[in-house]
Amino acid sequence: MQLSDTFGRKFYYLRLSITDVCNFKCEYCLPNGYQHTEKKCFLSVDEIKRTVDAFAASGTQKVRITGGEPGLRKDLTEIIKVIAANPAIKKIAMTTNGYNLEKNAQQWKDAGLNQLNISVDSLTPHLFNKITGVNRFDDVMRGIDKALEVGFDKIKLNSVLIKEFNDNELHQFLDFIKQRKIEMRFIELMECGETNEFFNKHHLSGDGIKQFLHNQGWVQQMRAKDDGPAQVFSHPESQGSLGLIQPYAKDFCDTCNRLRVSSVGKMHLCLFGEDGVDIRDLIQDDSQQPELIQRLHDAVSTKKVSHYLQEGNTGATPHLASIGG
Ligand code: SAM
Ligand code: SF4
Repeated sequence: MQLSDTFGRKFYYLRLSITDVCNFKCEYCLPNGYQHTEKKCFLSVDEIKRTVDAFAASGTQKVRITGGEPGLRKDLTEIIKVIAANPAIKKIAMTTNGYNLEKNAQQWKDAGLNQLNISVDSLTPHLFNKITGVNRFDDVMRGIDKALEVGFDKIKLNSVLIKEFNDNELHQFLDFIKQRKIEMRFIELMECGETNEFFNKHHLSGDGIKQFLHNQGWVQQMRAKDDGPAQVFSHPESQGSLGLIQPYAKDFCDTCNRLRVSSVGKMHLCLFGEDGVDIRDLIQDDSQQPELIQRLHDAVSTKKVSHYLQEGNTGATPHLASIGG
């Protein structure tokens, strides 16, 4: 039976975090880098397989692998393969900082990865390095070229809008996608528990970009049922398209179609505001699937109507690396 909540929303899309660890220090996410304070045991390939199988049996058609930085897991190719082995999963996507994409893009695609989101907050090398805290601009750019060469079904670039950092780069990004089949997505900065000071200083609304796009003849596209929350725009003179994610917009949660599982096996109904429902005890053996599916349905029936971010709620989320942004 399809996972759905009491507000009539149906959940086709699972965002699966496979690690909290990251090798970047993005100012808005992990400004001091990943802290190895407690030893965490991330989901094994078998546990990931059972999780995905139960979600697929409950109507999930798309899985996004995320983190932390998923590219850091040595068994990532195997993880992609076990997800791809489930015939109900029609799309496998991954969000990555792209640091080792050049080396691995081909094998990830061969394993069954269809879509790739690469985070690129600036096309100006010194600004990129300043935002991410690492000197990896060239690696990421070569990774993007390689991903285009390998030919994924869809490639998106994620850029978080940050006042005083990348707010002058719209034209640069538009030039970049003009001759490339890429969806460039601008994401408004979200407030998290550990980064609220940064948020207060640097949050920037996407309304200015939206107005600019309308004025320049960009046209808003229709949304597919397993699409993310982006408003997507296209233009006859650009091969690339442009997506805008505005989590603070009124009605943002109305079209929510995703659920999350953290790297330690907690199911989260929302990025914000709750501690998660533990499912790890029910992914230890294939025979537990009926009980696991029942727990998923029970949890989803308690999903709230909104993330209440507008009211400053960040709930239990210290930063997005902890839950898989
Ligand atoms: N490490 C990978 C990466 O950066 O692509 C995957 C995990 S990261 C948490 C997923 C996405 O969340 C990235 O595109 C990142 O820019 C975005 N993100 C992280 N913190 C955010 C915040 N506070 N507000 C908006 N987006 C955020
Ligand atoms: Fe790492 Fe991604 Fe967070 Fe940057 S946004 S620190 S790359 S998890």
